[in-house]
Amino acid sequence: MADGYGVLICPYCGKKFHPLSPTNHNGFCYFNGDLTRRAFCSADCYENYKEQFVVNVYSDLKIYCVKVGNEKRYMPYWGCAYYFTDIEECNAVINLKVVQE
Ligand SMILES: [Zn+2]
Repeated sequence: MADGYGVLICPYCGKKFHPLSPTNHNGFCYFNGDLTRRAFCSADCYENYKEQFVVNVYSDLKIYCVKVGNEKRYMPYWGCAYYFTDIEECNAVINLKVVQE
């Protein structure tokens, strides 16, 4: 792969793949202060990766939780630009029906 593009490593399965691979699947990794975009080798890996962070399903919406340092951050959907440190507050926002994926 010495073509100048280098190689990517899938954050889920660890497989190496070419950045221009047709199976390359981009997605928001998680909210960590600056939405980090990472590439996955397949859509399956991307979905499986996200599933690891699901902590609850509320009103048919998956609530994701990522840990940053000692802080747990709850998000009403994946790639959300804001977060809550209390899951009840996250539920409350969903109740207001302002959440759109
Ligand atoms: Zn993968």
